[in-house]
Amino acid sequence: MENKLEKVDVAIIGVGVVGLAVAAELSGGGREIIAVERHDGFGRESSSRNSEVIHAGIYYSRDFHKTRLCTEGRRILYELCPRVDIPFRKCGKLIIAIEKGDLPVIAALKERAEENGVEGLRLLSRGEVRAIEPRVRAEGGLWSSGTGIIDSHRLMAYLEKKASCDTTFAYNCELIALKKKGEGYRVVIRDADGEEYEFFSRVVVNAAGLGAERVAIMAGIDTAAAGYRIYPCKGEYFRVGGTEGALFSNLVYPPPTEISLGLHTVVDLQGGMKIGPSAFYVDEVDYTVDEQHREDFFRGAEKYLPELQRDNLSPDMAGIRPKLYRKGEAERDFVIHHEEDRGLPGLINLIGIESPGLTAAPAIGRYVKNLVEKIL
Ligand SMILES: Cc1cc2nc3c(=O)[nH]c(=O)nc-3n(C[C@H](O)[C@H](O)[C@H](O)COP(=O)(O)OP(=O)(O)OC[C@H]3O[C@@H](n4cnc5c(N)ncnc54)[C@H](O)[C@@H]3O)c2cc1C
Repeated sequence: MENKLEKVDVAIIGVGVVGLAVAAELSGGGREIIAVERHDGFGRESSSRNSEVIHAGIYYSRDFHKTRLCTEGRRILYELCPRVDIPFRKCGKLIIAIEKGDLPVIAALKERAEENGVEGLRLLSRGEVRAIEPRVRAEGGLWSSGTGIIDSHRLMAYLEKKASCDTTFAYNCELIALKKKGEGYRVVIRDADGEEYEFFSRVVVNAAGLGAERVAIMAGIDTAAAGYRIYPCKGEYFRVGGTEGALFSNLVYPPPTEISLGLHTVVDLQGGMKIGPSAFYVDEVDYTVDEQHREDFFRGAEKYLPELQRDNLSPDMAGIRPKLYRKGEAERDFVIHHEEDRGLPGLINLIGIESPGLTAAPAIGRYVKNLVEKIL
């Protein structure tokens, strides 16, 4: 391994859906690429701990990467999935006004989304919401026909296979040091047996999700000054079982909160139903779901699902968002930046890739490919 990896063109740190999308885009041109991942396979963190929704690009500012790359990523996914047999469903989504006071909020969302170029939006009356979701209580709603769901594991498996012609996947290997050296970077990784390997890479793409701030620090960046501090924000899901299995059949979202899209219904491609994700800041990465939170889930969701029963909610899974802002602070965009201006040419940081990062991933891959091609 040491000999083979003495010198590579591109090192990608982190093999979630974003690292995979970057690897898949860069592969095929004969470059030597290594993708380093501390776990034993792809997508063990945020990329497999999310709602698997293909977002339409409704919520964010027009000039945000979050909007542009989500819209482009969605377009790529709807073209790609049927072509390469990745399970998906363009099921649409309902954003509801739980109270009358929410009606102007969803009307404003529609306006913003249309400015963002999102198509297929329609304001619904209370009766129209009821016709789509008879057991949902709402004063009105916004229908988004462009929203869907996807099998994220199958997407990642496809990207890994596509990338594998030029990419060596170094699983069970953690990046432990990164230093500028000549025309590139000295990269040090440690495998599961504690063995350390060192190699040189012209370009380094930091796609390390929750670990991305640490990678930037290794490269010598003052992350507080750069605005790269990550504030982990946990989201738990509770499964809906029992008689409520058919309580809803669509994605139903309440109006968004300051830090999340709200406690919504999640339908998966296997017919499973969940409610989530919640949103609270944490100090540690711990994916357990606290059963004590059942009551909060029940109270949050019964506002629009009046037939929901507390006892039919069971802890399911959790994910953690790598947020760049705390509660009360202005929302931040994804950081996708070539660090040439910090004296680190060849280092591309992808930081704060929270939702809609799954949807945006294929477009992020293309965006990063353009940056890499300007460097190599
Ligand atoms: C609760 C929740 C719900 C979401 N719902 C949606 C949704 O419905 N639709 C949507 O579009 N997006 C959604 N997202 C966002 C989406 O899941 C993420 O944006 C996306 O998965 C980010 O992918 P990633 O590859 O950047 O990160 P990750 O999947 O976290 O991958 C980063 C990888 O880097 C590795 N790593 C870190 N440090 C190191 C190191 N030092 N050495 C080696 N490897 C390292 C980690 O092990 C990890 O595997 C949601 C996110 C959450 C948390």
